[in-house]
Amino acid sequence: MAFGKKNQEEIKEEETKIWLCQSEECNCWMRDNFTTQEEPKCPRCGNAMEASQKVLQVVDNNSIYYKS
Ligand SMILES: [Zn+2]
Repeated sequence: MAFGKKNQEEIKEEETKIWLCQSEECNCWMRDNFTTQEEPKCPRCGNAMEASQKVLQVVDNNSIYYKS
């Protein structure tokens, strides 16, 4: 994953629980804390999702966007 903008602030990263779409044509994923469902469906294609882990930037609030 590439970030186009260089951020002056120190970016913390940690292993985060995510949900990965199981469809091979769809690379959709979302953070676990963005869904309240136990077994969420992919918002893009409706397929079942699989729990996984991804190293992500730590987000202080519950917003999808982080401050730049
Ligand atoms: Zn999908």
